[in-house]
Amino acid sequence: MMAALPLPAHGTRDHTLDACFLGPYGENDALLEKLLVEFLRDHVYWRRNFHPEDPPAIATAAAHHPDYLAFESRMRRELHLLSAALKKSVPFHSPRYVGHMVSDLLLPGLAAQMLTLPYNPNNVSEDAAPVTVDMEVQVGLQLARMLGYPHDPALPACAFGHLTSGGTVANYQALRLALALKAFPVALRAAGIPELDLPTDDWAAFNLAAADTIALQERWQAWLAAQTQGERKRWHQRVEAERIEHRGLADFFAVHPTLRVPLVLAPVTAHYSWSKGMKLLGLGSHQLRLVPTRGMRMDPQALDATLAACARERQPVLMCVAVLGSTEYGTIDPVDAVLAARKGVRTQGLDFSVHVDAAWGGYLATLFRHQDGRLRTRTEVAADYVHFPTPEVHAAFAALGDTDSVTVDPHKLGYLPYGAGAFICRDHRAMTLLAERADYVFHGSTPGDYLTRYRSLGQFVPEGSKSGAAAAAVYVTHKVLPLDYRHFGRLPMATVRAAEIFTACAQRFALEVADVMHVLLPFVPDSNLVCLAMNPRGNREVAGANAWLRALHDTLRCDPSQPLQMKEFFGSVTSLRPDMLGPAEMQRILDALDLEPDSLAGDGDDDRLVILRHTLMNPFLIDHENGISYIERYFEFLQRKVRASALTARAATG
Ligand SMILES: *Cc1c(COP(=O)(O)O)cnc(C)c1O
Repeated sequence: MMAALPLPAHGTRDHTLDACFLGPYGENDALLEKLLVEFLRDHVYWRRNFHPEDPPAIATAAAHHPDYLAFESRMRRELHLLSAALKKSVPFHSPRYVGHMVSDLLLPGLAAQMLTLPYNPNNVSEDAAPVTVDMEVQVGLQLARMLGYPHDPALPACAFGHLTSGGTVANYQALRLALALKAFPVALRAAGIPELDLPTDDWAAFNLAAADTIALQERWQAWLAAQTQGERKRWHQRVEAERIEHRGLADFFAVHPTLRVPLVLAPVTAHYSWSKGMKLLGLGSHQLRLVPTRGMRMDPQALDATLAACARERQPVLMCVAVLGSTEYGTIDPVDAVLAARKGVRTQGLDFSVHVDAAWGGYLATLFRHQDGRLRTRTEVAADYVHFPTPEVHAAFAALGDTDSVTVDPHKLGYLPYGAGAFICRDHRAMTLLAERADYVFHGSTPGDYLTRYRSLGQFVPEGSKSGAAAAAVYVTHKVLPLDYRHFGRLPMATVRAAEIFTACAQRFALEVADVMHVLLPFVPDSNLVCLAMNPRGNREVAGANAWLRALHDTLRCDPSQPLQMKEFFGSVTSLRPDMLGPAEMQRILDALDLEPDSLAGDGDDDRLVILRHTLMNPFLIDHENGISYIERYFEFLQRKVRASALTARAATG
């Protein structure tokens, strides 16, 4: 185990973080430059040492040829243009950026990615990525450990995880795996395999617990292995022909008329990738049922009611999604209550997968892990914060280990370059059902050990060719900053503390501008995303409040027609809708802002209340070096905007 440095006390700088990033001012430029030059040279020597007897194919004098020079100048020109154009990029690195879910990049990941790029590994399989494909499988195990899944590949029920281009594709993979697990026992029944102890009818087969399906699948493989080569092939083909992946949805449900296309349940706060996924898999977005929330967290009672109705109507459910850190509000669903709801409805014959969409909040799990992998108690975690974590938030993280699969985005709270999402399932044996080629049919038993098997990643993942450099970046980052509270956890710790400071500043700001503006935190933040609702005093109409907030947002968002430096801060907006919050919550918020409930117009853009949304993931929001709080500066900025608009309003009226 790595020796860990002491954690910083409240209000002090964590010096480990100083070496983690290039920095808002590019402070660590020399460090990054040194690394890049060192490893670029290293790469060149590697090329030369492959067969040093092969002479250079490009002549030493080639660089003087006019065509060479012409090419070089064209390339330079285009690169200069690119570099110039990129100066209009959004300054994610700056503590003045509190908009979307992105910030500076971790140096170990950035350097690992850059140094791997010229080797160009393709993680589709070991043939194209002998080094980085193992790293990707290791990343899956690292994340599994962080989540509380079994992560020892020697165990039969070890977890498995892989990278994707992002959370969206990881969510597709979750749907794909859940559907494969659900429909497989039905296919086995239809194929008429003797002596496997199969469920008695299609409904029971379609509602087998994931663990039971995995056990059934193991029995089926063992049974196959005992057959002669020819029989094995024949039975395998017979089962494959019955599978939903082979028949397609329409045919599968036509052959099994007692079954219906299953629903996917997700909170109304779910990311739109779920709707995309339903369309992509052909399940249809109509089958995505949005469960109401309380305080923007899935309402367990509403979930119970939905599940009871499904059981009654014999409406199958494919999966229930719990969101761990909603994209718009940062709120954390009660994962424990979702598991309890499933347990409750199992007695009525309904079963389904529980998937956690932790694309945003996944890395917060590091705050809850000891170095030895044990879960930290709420009291242990709470010692580092003012309010965090609520008992509900702690219970949600504690329950992760009992779910079936999780989506985590290294390119969000993992501070890594884009192109890095991850899908992790609790029991890797389920992945057999996704394999494009069932090797056990040809070899008689499951091939090789865990690591050997997953070197053929392309067999199991939704994508084909994929970046090995991205895998190297995630792997190296997790090695430099292991996924526990003493290492990686320092990052989310800094951001959750910043969010607590932000919340306190917001409350003070609300009092300071109370003479001209109603300001409200619409709900208690669960972690590091804080929303703020506002309405100019005297205005009673939602349309007026929205117009004011949209105008404010115009000063907070990127505008390519203006120099970047014109922007003081970057923020983002989202909205609150009655169908998301429920009528009582919406009423509470409108009342607190002195808005007329009737002014929520049913059509047009003002059927919702626009609010500010702040993602507080920049590690330099509090600059201890210079005694600057960018959070306080942000509220001073808001205060100026509020006062200026109040003056304009007064001039206009009178
Ligand atoms: C960001 C996000 C996604 C989508 O992830 P991408 O990496 O953008 O594809 C899905 N779910 C949640 C909760 C998210 O925050």
